[in-house]
Amino acid sequence: MTAAAAAPAPTNAEVTLRVAELFGPTLQGEGPSAGQRAVFVRLSGCNLDCGWCDTPYTWDWARFDPAQESRTLPVQAVLDWILGRDTDLVVITGGEPLIQHARLTPLAQALAAAGRRIEIETNGTIAPPDRLIECVERFNVSPKLGGSGVPIGRRIRPAALEALRGTGKAVFKFVIGAPEDLAELADLQARFGLAPVWVMPQGTHPADVVEGLRALAEPTLAHGWNLSSRLHVLVWGDQRGR
Ligand code: SF4
Repeated sequence: MTAAAAAPAPTNAEVTLRVAELFGPTLQGEGPSAGQRAVFVRLSGCNLDCGWCDTPYTWDWARFDPAQESRTLPVQAVLDWILGRDTDLVVITGGEPLIQHARLTPLAQALAAAGRRIEIETNGTIAPPDRLIECVERFNVSPKLGGSGVPIGRRIRPAALEALRGTGKAVFKFVIGAPEDLAELADLQARFGLAPVWVMPQGTHPADVVEGLRALAEPTLAHGWNLSSRLHVLVWGDQRGR
């Protein structure tokens, strides 16, 4: 009796992703790569529900219609769209993109093989698999603080944070939505050894971002952190697809 042959791996035409938006070339607006030319893959779905979320159309199906806001696309179609754009950097965001990590990995592998640089933006609650880590240049990890309104047990997942820190490819970017967020950030940094830390103001209007940057500059310097603007908001306001 012979062992049954293993089923062939599904092709990139068969594996699908839930996609909210594909857009670019545009400018990465946040964190260490701010200002760099990039394309964005925004995936649908999130495991959190932050009160100040600026992309609720990726997950809040009580307010938005998934039939309008989300498409199921083959990995190959997403890959072809990206490779048809003249950009070195690919930012994969959400929602929470690591919800789909098993289906995201073949896309990341194909992009890395094509010489693209990949950043994944994640809320830090899901540990990525090794096969995905190998393909990624950086994880922009954005754990949510109390100002998000999400209970701490859902938004801070120690094992996932430690796994992301352990990749050696993570930066930790915190949206400051309330003054008390700064003290919580300092506690989390000490507890989990998070570094480097970037702080960023909340805001989807240029005036709010500028005001937030001014308020955060001195505390950021005092704590030894880095400060991120929201360049896309300063340039384009709250336009989608920017
Ligand atoms: S984790 Fe991000 S996408 Fe999800 S609800 Fe919070 S801000 Fe929105």
